[in-house]
Amino acid sequence: MSKNQLNRTSIPKLGDSDQGCNILHLDMDAFYASVEVKRNPNLKGKPVIVGGNSGRGVVVAATYEARAFGIHAAMPMSRAIRLCPEVIVVSPDHQEYAETSEQLLEIMLSVTPLVETISLDEAFLDVTGSRKLLGTPRAIGDLLRSKIKNELQLTASVGIASTKFVAKLASTYAKPDGLLVVPVDQVLEFLHPLPVNALWGVGSKTEEKLVELGLKKISDIAQLPVKTLIKILGEAAGEHLHDLAWGRDEREVVVYEPDKSIGHEHTFDVDVFKPTEIEAEILRLSDLVASRLRSRELVGRTISVKLRFNDFSTITRSQTIKGYTNTTQEINSIAKGLYQKLGLQRARIRLVGVRVEGLHSSVGAAIQPTLDAPEHGWPQADQAIDKARERFGDQAVKPARLVSQSDDLQE
Ligand SMILES: [Mg+2]
Repeated sequence: MSKNQLNRTSIPKLGDSDQGCNILHLDMDAFYASVEVKRNPNLKGKPVIVGGNSGRGVVVAATYEARAFGIHAAMPMSRAIRLCPEVIVVSPDHQEYAETSEQLLEIMLSVTPLVETISLDEAFLDVTGSRKLLGTPRAIGDLLRSKIKNELQLTASVGIASTKFVAKLASTYAKPDGLLVVPVDQVLEFLHPLPVNALWGVGSKTEEKLVELGLKKISDIAQLPVKTLIKILGEAAGEHLHDLAWGRDEREVVVYEPDKSIGHEHTFDVDVFKPTEIEAEILRLSDLVASRLRSRELVGRTISVKLRFNDFSTITRSQTIKGYTNTTQEINSIAKGLYQKLGLQRARIRLVGVRVEGLHSSVGAAIQPTLDAPEHGWPQADQAIDKARERFGDQAVKPARLVSQSDDLQE
């Protein structure tokens, strides 16, 4: 759903009751751009975009002043600059955003342990258990927003409702720097005039299909017999959208505990000493690790290799990169470099391992370090590989250098 397409005028007048509205959706306003403005107060009040400055990338974030020119996230940089030639372009600093995000998480955890982070700047909170101590959901939303303002000098918008879906929509309408409660008895009044693309899970293709059939508003979806909707969209999506259109969303706030690291190891049948063989194994393991990261929508920043010698002594070397990665190419090149730096001359190796730590969700813009990569670079190649594997299985596609490897190297 594109937030920019939602029409503010369609919000009905909502009452004050937050009874039963225990789910908060918190979303920072123009997060990356706001962090940049906070760091450099000269940017305040100006159209600023965050993105690669090679002109090839896309806009990662835009201040509201830039949005006034029609600029929005995911737009090609070149187009943004055409729309507003005086726009100030700032390169992304992912480390800074990640650090701010951690401070934000601390603030959210100070009101409830039930925080489900969606991206660096967005989360659901279940405040059912916090009411006794901190007051009504609205009071908790206000508290969060004022803490964020005071401690981070940034603004956040909060949507409050009885379901995740409606809370998320509410925060969209609260933006920027606002708070919106959708009372339980006004959910349908709020929901039904909205365009179909406001429904969670309706991408541009589904939207096209629905609009073609004359289904433009959520109320149109709600009025349609669920059977008809299933015929159009299939069983799962049909039922799901029907429920959402009636404000039904059973999903709970799930505390997300990310893996601390993802790694793979391989013990050779016979000790190996040839660097080419060890490097081939490092490539194969890097590929497995990268592919697992991608399937879990994770990126990481510390890459390590582990080597065990024939006398069982073990060494580990690691390197932390500036941004985050989940590409086979980058993980392999760092892991291989770490191995080569050891200068092991014909040492007998029993086991090799590759691991990635410092993991973070790749949902959102966290994977943007590849912004300046060639348009059809490694991430695209990886995506193609992942797709083929989904269809044909893990062994279907291998990095080219592994194709010629004998089968005993494969797991
Ligand atoms: Mg945001």
